[in-house]
Amino acid sequence: MNPFSYERATDSSAAVRAVSAHGAKFLGGGTNLVDLMRDGVENPTKLIDVNHLRLDEVMRLPNGGVRVGASVRNSDLANHEIIRTHYPLLSQALLNGASPQLRNMATTAGNLMQRTRCYYFMDTAFPACNKREPGSGCAAIQGFNRIHAILGASESCIATNPSDMSVALAALEATVHVEGPGGKRAIPIADFHLLPGSTPHIETSLKPDELITAVELPAPKFAKHSYYLKVRDRQSYAFALVSVAAGLELEGGTIKSAGLALGGVALKPWRSLEAEKALKGAAPTAEAFQKAAKLALDGAKLQKDNAFKIELAKQSIVHALTLAAKGAQA
Ligand code: SF4
Repeated sequence: MNPFSYERATDSSAAVRAVSAHGAKFLGGGTNLVDLMRDGVENPTKLIDVNHLRLDEVMRLPNGGVRVGASVRNSDLANHEIIRTHYPLLSQALLNGASPQLRNMATTAGNLMQRTRCYYFMDTAFPACNKREPGSGCAAIQGFNRIHAILGASESCIATNPSDMSVALAALEATVHVEGPGGKRAIPIADFHLLPGSTPHIETSLKPDELITAVELPAPKFAKHSYYLKVRDRQSYAFALVSVAAGLELEGGTIKSAGLALGGVALKPWRSLEAEKALKGAAPTAEAFQKAAKLALDGAKLQKDNAFKIELAKQSIVHALTLAAKGAQA
């Protein structure tokens, strides 16, 4: 690990000022960043500890939504009464991530900023990784790419986003609140994570000197009918091959509105507006769910080792929507 300095921020303005130093990064739970520092993938010169900024509250809002502080631990959020009761999709997604010990440390903001678990990115023995070293190439394209993207990939990068929480946030239409030298702004979750294009090293629309302060959830629609389905190589402590966050608002035997997002298939949580549109006004039947699954995978492109992911994703969507319609608990 390279030497670095450490500073504990006392308020968000001080944190933003401190991170403007070249090579500085915010430190939350450190569950991803510190691992990457040990492996030489991340080499910050300075860590700004933001664990003491009093951003650890879950609050109801007058508009019926909820504001989640950036430092709320994943375990606390998953088990919070408001989240369990009104946003079970988010609770389920969080409990499907990592291990209990990691969830006790990991923060809401840190989960949003998780970096890909592409083998070639994580191991500096492989020199070709455009995300780690822009312009160096992509070892995964010709390498072993079973876990890689089938949607939204580019010739520069075919990695996937590892977060479960972010997939649920996409289906729930969350907003990310940030603060920087230019003031505060709100970023819709759909615009927060970026597809790789020709700049896979730029992963979010957050500027380097901006601090995530909160995530806002709109008034709940899917409390009675939602399901987070995660398919992985082993039952716990593994990243998704495919995951589905499915939410349905049912009224009089038809779908009034739907939220549908996929994980493990792209470099950002893959929300399918086309599938949601097709579900709206339909009866919650197998045929409607199959049509939505087909639309969600429209344009999917295989790598040499991940052909199984398209059918897996389609079947997972149908299964998650079926369980959501039944009001099943994950
Ligand atoms: Fe790097 Fe992306 Fe290629 Fe993985 S897929 S080696 S992260 S450029």
